[in-house]
Amino acid sequence: MSNQVEILPQVKSFLAREQKLLINGEWVSAVDGKTFDTINPADGTSLTSVSAGEIEDVNQAVIAARNAFPAWSSMMPAQRERLLHNFADLMESHKEELAQLETLDNGKPFNIAYNVEVNVAIGQMRYYAGLPTKLKGETYNVSSPGYHVYTRKEPLGVCAAITPWNYSLVMATQKIGPALAAGNTLILKPAEQTPLTAIRMAELALEAGIPPGVFNLITGFGETAGKALTHHPDVDKVAFTGSTEVGKAILQASAGNLKHVSLELGGKSPLIIMNDADLDAASETALWAIFANSGQNCVAGSRLFVQSGVYDDVLNYLSRRAGELKVGAGMNQDTEIGPLVSNTQLERVMSYVEAGQKQGVELVAGGNRSGGDLSAGYFLEPTVFGAVNDTATIASEEIFGPVLSVMKFETEDEVIQRANQSRYGLAAGVWTNHLARAHRMAAQLRAGVVWINTYDWFDPAVPFGGMGESGYGRELGTQVMDMYTELKSVWVKIE
Ligand code: ADP
Repeated sequence: MSNQVEILPQVKSFLAREQKLLINGEWVSAVDGKTFDTINPADGTSLTSVSAGEIEDVNQAVIAARNAFPAWSSMMPAQRERLLHNFADLMESHKEELAQLETLDNGKPFNIAYNVEVNVAIGQMRYYAGLPTKLKGETYNVSSPGYHVYTRKEPLGVCAAITPWNYSLVMATQKIGPALAAGNTLILKPAEQTPLTAIRMAELALEAGIPPGVFNLITGFGETAGKALTHHPDVDKVAFTGSTEVGKAILQASAGNLKHVSLELGGKSPLIIMNDADLDAASETALWAIFANSGQNCVAGSRLFVQSGVYDDVLNYLSRRAGELKVGAGMNQDTEIGPLVSNTQLERVMSYVEAGQKQGVELVAGGNRSGGDLSAGYFLEPTVFGAVNDTATIASEEIFGPVLSVMKFETEDEVIQRANQSRYGLAAGVWTNHLARAHRMAAQLRAGVVWINTYDWFDPAVPFGGMGESGYGRELGTQVMDMYTELKSVWVKIE
């Protein structure tokens, strides 16, 4: 019990409050009064009840965001920076509270929520807080004499950010940051499974002095609140992270008013271990590439290709380590692997485990729900399948759970061809000590990010996004500002 994280009094009082929508700087209930419970996946109990915004609430949020746009977009950039830094500072001073809320709502281990997720989210806010004063246009040496031509980067207007439940804070800040830095106003629609940190962040944004209507929050379901945002004729951009299926629906909905859309979607990322790799480091990295965040990670290294010379060693290592990982509630500090986010997600992942077994794939570790004290929560043992055929369901579909498919290969050409045989193209990893091979493979892999002798590293400065059905547009870095601005060319006759 001593390793239990003690719930902060401010978290307790937050959970005891009525959770409302933030529209135009006011906390309001949904127009029709609907609410839903958000569940603690570690024990299946309700944490608190949250307002379920729908079409009318979205309409009001869009009006508020539209009305706030002129003043926010014309505010002195240095002043916008100051407000965004205030927001980052407040996130920093409420770090523990945000991490506890995330662990309770999502299930992930507290140490990860605190040391990784909240830190990354703050880092992103700080990075984008610094950008308002750095936005700039260009001048052009045109061939027509007597003209001065320049470009301006102007904000798009009202942006909607629709985010998933796996990294609720980070997925939100990587959209809030650039959207507000560029001078847009925003409506955040967090995932219905994990709305709590978004609510707390919206409170902090208000406290930071971000003006009413600039940052609005609509909690609610995808089919209602999310859909209303994507169809709304006065929303100028939707930034979405989530499933490929919903991404396609959002793209179709955007045709109504030709919204800008950026999509960060699913993945089935290959991680490749060559015979010449540093085997211990490669194997341990492969373990965490799939099991971090209980496999609920868009870049999860869910297809592990191992060259034949080291295949048995890697598979043995993974099956042993998978069995050692401590599965448990995120609020227990000994926990390495938390529950899945919901019962629906657990059932979905279990159906893949069963499909693997039905298709005769060799199960080398895990495969069961955790019993005993953990039976009320949505826990699944870290699961490893060996000698998987590339066409098996578990090797081709995104599972979004702690289920690894390990495949054997012989040559570099063969593995590149097999790794690229996927409708997705989000991330890839290569472990090799051969310098030229590493770069050669990085160039050939069809993925938006390739990690060499590492995996799953991010930085606010480094662009991130996918190819193929993993989506389009890139988040992070300075170039994301192009996705939150319009480029206007101005011609001036000077002679
Ligand atoms: P997952 O399958 O991982 O739950 P989803 O793509 O279903 O991911 O959800 C990601 C986000 O998209 C959530 O905020 C969810 O509410 C929202 N969403 C789901 N369906 C729709 C939809 N039809 N239109 C807009 N947003 C949606």
